[in-house]
Amino acid sequence: MANKGCPVCRHSILTPTQYHSQEIDACYHCGGLWFEKDEMNSVLSAIDNGHDNVDFTGQLGKRSGVSQRQCPDCQKSLQHYQLLEHYDLEVDVCHGCDGVWIDRDEIAAVQQSPRLRETLEKLNTQPNWKSWVFQFLSQMPVEYNIRPHRTPWVTWALVLINVLIYFSYAGSDNSMMAAITSFGSTPAELANGDQWWTPLTATFLHGSLLHLAGNMYFLWLTGDNLEDALGHWRFLGLYLLCGLGAGLISVLMNWNSNIPSVGASGAIAGLFGMYMLWFRHASLTFMIIVWQKKLSPFWYFGIWLGINLLGMVGNEGGVDYWAHIGGFVIGIIIGLSMHRWVMAQNPLLPLLAQPQARVLR
Ligand SMILES: [Zn+2]
Ligand SMILES: [Zn+2]
Repeated sequence: MANKGCPVCRHSILTPTQYHSQEIDACYHCGGLWFEKDEMNSVLSAIDNGHDNVDFTGQLGKRSGVSQRQCPDCQKSLQHYQLLEHYDLEVDVCHGCDGVWIDRDEIAAVQQSPRLRETLEKLNTQPNWKSWVFQFLSQMPVEYNIRPHRTPWVTWALVLINVLIYFSYAGSDNSMMAAITSFGSTPAELANGDQWWTPLTATFLHGSLLHLAGNMYFLWLTGDNLEDALGHWRFLGLYLLCGLGAGLISVLMNWNSNIPSVGASGAIAGLFGMYMLWFRHASLTFMIIVWQKKLSPFWYFGIWLGINLLGMVGNEGGVDYWAHIGGFVIGIIIGLSMHRWVMAQNPLLPLLAQPQARVLR
């Protein structure tokens, strides 16, 4: 068999290499890989990317011209193709023998390309009349994000627990008052060293059905993706940490207050911080009067933070702004310190954060 030359380095010879139980050719000089016809499909089907029957050339985007590089097998000029319709990375394909050349820095995106394609399709869906009606009636955003790999048991359990706890005391005003007095967090009581458990228990109480519904919607919306990225127990630990931290910040900032504070908002604000930093590609719809627009999490939660800061400055009552802002800051600190780890665990996330990924909003 004749030696195959590297299309990039020219003078280097490709070396047969085992790659995900396929024999392909690799250049040890530039790190590029050459896949003959069908080898790419076998490799992509063998890799864990959520798809078992991959048609690589079928999923390619537009052809964007002729490459300077030559096919190692049939010496024809390779053709540039966009990796996916909404992912601007160019791979080299041979029209003569259906071989594919992949540069070293393209390997990660190619390996994940079936799931990347599915995700970009989902991210780039445009709001329709159903999402408009939903948001108009509920005033809640519609989310566009990765479909989680694992079932979000912890998120569902947290929602269920919050709902069950609410209905256990919401029957009468007296039982509502009793629950909030015993388990809501009252700064003046804590200052006296009483009721030390309340910063945690207050996270599971809500003062009204609307308060509960709003919080649970946002927990469900952000929780499934965060639980998927973090794993079940880590997600639960961070949720409780944000709730506890937000509660303590609220107590410290309202030291002499006799007003008990309740709600999962502080913990959920922590989730917002992490979500904003790890899911930059996601979109949440925002509605101004009747106009619905997809926003990046950075803009969406930026506006949310602005509303909270305005409410705090304007001294509007009834909302624990310090718990919201405190939880959000804790979430951002966690989000920054775990960023590298989360990206390494979830290869799709750094790929979607690249400028090559075109997210329509
Ligand atoms: Zn090379
Ligand atoms: Zn060829």
